[in-house]
Amino acid sequence: MADPTDPSDAARAGVGTPTPAQVAFRGLCPRCGAPTLFDGWARFAPACSKCGLDFASFNVGDGPAAFLTLGIGTIITVLAIWLELAVGPPWWVHVLLWLPLTAIGVLLSLRAAKGALLALEWRNEAREHRSDGQ
Ligand SMILES: [Zn+2]
Repeated sequence: MADPTDPSDAARAGVGTPTPAQVAFRGLCPRCGAPTLFDGWARFAPACSKCGLDFASFNVGDGPAAFLTLGIGTIITVLAIWLELAVGPPWWVHVLLWLPLTAIGVLLSLRAAKGALLALEWRNEAREHRSDGQ
């Protein structure tokens, strides 16, 4: 049950905290808003150096990769089919075009997807295997 006087509940409700999009694109801590979320391009820091939020306790797992595979894979496939039907280029044009674009698309969006998922897990208090009915 949310207690409006509890500062952690107020923070989860979005009062004074960055939005999931801000967390994702700017690498902000979802609780305090400091730019401490990432320790590398797409690697989380162990914890926020400002407020102490333990980022290691969140497990975003393969969720971002699955979303990216489906989303970017769909976009690349549609574009490849369109190019083939419109222009009919040699096969190596497809290789030179779509392989790098897929890799770049995944690398650029993986950081944002991981940040967004962690922000949503924190905001919704999502944890692995809770048997207490919450
Ligand atoms: Zn913080």
